Parts: sequence; structure tokens; C-alpha cells
Amino acid sequence: MIKTDFFGALKKTRAFSILKSDISNGMGHAYIINCPDEETVKEFFLLAACAAFCERKDECLFCPSCVKVLNNSHADVFTVNEEGKTVKVDEVKRIIESAYIKGLESERKLYFINRADLMTREAQNKLLKTLEEPPLGVSFFLGVSNLAATLETIRSRCRIINIEPFSKEEVFDVVYKITNDKEASNIASLCSNGLLGHAMEIAGSEIYSKVYKKAGQFFTDCKKTSDIAAYLSDKTIVQNAKDFLSILSLMFYDMICYKEGKGRDISDGSLSVIKTASEEYGLKALCEIIFKIAEAEMKLSLNLGAQSVIESLLFGILEVKYKWR
Ligand SMILES: [Zn+2]
Repeated sequence: MIKTDFFGALKKTRAFSILKSDISNGMGHAYIINCPDEETVKEFFLLAACAAFCERKDECLFCPSCVKVLNNSHADVFTVNEEGKTVKVDEVKRIIESAYIKGLESERKLYFINRADLMTREAQNKLLKTLEEPPLGVSFFLGVSNLAATLETIRSRCRIINIEPFSKEEVFDVVYKITNDKEASNIASLCSNGLLGHAMEIAGSEIYSKVYKKAGQFFTDCKKTSDIAAYLSDKTIVQNAKDFLSILSLMFYDMICYKEGKGRDISDGSLSVIKTASEEYGLKALCEIIFKIAEAEMKLSLNLGAQSVIESLLFGILEVKYKWR
């Protein structure tokens, strides 16, 4: 079961242990759960609700209360904005009205608002009044990807809990348990920046693994500038330019890790290519290349043609490689 594995990793986070200790010592009435990965926040919300209502007090996921939470049918758990869109003031009004009605199954009522950083200003101000004088037994959880987008006044009323990115090893373990695919798990762990939800997305995407393989082939197929045209004749790269650049950037970053003796020991599949390639690049070259990729990403975001952006980047990479030899 997917959730069990995801939860297993979340249970070990500092964020969860903070919440657990609040549940036993007295729960706050307002929390901000800060994490750039929406999916991680969603799973954290479910786990938090299980922890708050579990009949065995250990978020067992199997008791009737946990099962209700997991099936979205617990009468005292309210989840708002699952689509992660803008939350307007009318929705906040509805939430507040319902918050003053006594809980059906317990003394506690929990409101989980996804992407609360996308609440309009008006909506945030409306919610603020309730956070200042909350109804008894009610706790609000605001999931945010971008903390800076919430009003300072809201932040000052909430306990802010950050979910730190997971390590590559943790991401690999979770994704591997779920997918049973070693290579996909490796790619996901290397390319997700420690964001588990994003890692699952990557592992489930056929095109991403195709782009990843193509990026890895750069190191074997492009030894000199005259190889670039043939390499780019496969349109996978240009059509997925954004993913390609972010993968390439991570690969070069990984190569720095190998150079500094901090790289992971990966011997299988397309990943071993990076380790080997790191021997061909000087450290200064690697740093300059990462900068060049960031430049290319910027050009892409300005809608410059992907073909020419990538072509000139690849030329640039080879140039830098030889310059610092
Ligand atoms: Zn339970």
C-alpha cells in the first residue's frame, strides 16, 4: 500500500515528532505546514489526522478512526482545496461557519487547507479573525509551498512546522518499496531534490526516464562538438527541454559530489555513466557548467527557442570541459 511507505518516511521527520508531542501535550489551534511538495503536505495532513484520532494513539492506520480518516469519511476532519487552487473568501466563510458547530465524533475538529499560500488576501484576513479567537477544540492546518505568500499576521498566529527535504537514500527507499523498480527509484531519488511527491511523479513518468537516459548519453555520445547535431536529432530532448536541463544540472552537481568523494556508490544502469564522466571534467569546469545550465534555464523561461538554447549550451559545455582540462 502506497500510503504506508510514504507515511513511514514522514513518521521519522522532525515535523511529525513536533506534531506528535503537541497532540499529547495539547494541540495548538493553528499550524502552518511548510513544504514545497504539495503531495508531501497532503500525506502529512492524513497522517496528522490519524495521529490525532487514532484509537491506539499510534496512527496505526487500521483502527476504525484511522480508516475513516484514510477514506476521507471522518466527520471531524475537513480537507479544503485538494486541487491546490486559489482559496477565495467565500470558502473561508463556509469553513469558519462550520468550525463553530460542535464536533460529531469527538471534542476535536481539524481543518486542513491545501495551498493556503494561494488564499486571496481577503480570504487570509477573514481567516485571521478566527485564528485570533478560535472555537474550542478546533485546529487549523495551513499547507503552504511558498511561506512568503502568506500574510505576516497569519504567520504570527500559527506554529510553523517545516517538513525538511528527504535524503536521497530515504527517497530511494520509499520509491523502491512502492515501485520495485531500482532504476526508476534511482532516477527519482537523484532528481527530486528530496521531495517525495515529486519523486513519485518522476518514477511514474515514462517520458522522464527517457529524457534521463538521453541526458546520460550526452557523456558517451558527445565527445566533440561535431557529435552534437546527431545527439540532438532525437527530438526527446528539445521537446522536454525544461526537464532535460534540470536533469543535466543535477547530473553535473552529482559529478561534483563524486569529485569530492561524497557521491553515492551506484554501479547499475545509466547512473554509473555520471561517475565515470566525472573523471573527465575538472572541478572548475563543473561549476562553470552548472552556471551555464542555469543561464539556459533562464533563456528557456524567456521563451527563447529550445533547440538553439540547448544547442549552444552543449557547445558551451564541451568548450568549458576542454578549457579547464
Ligand atoms: Zn489508528
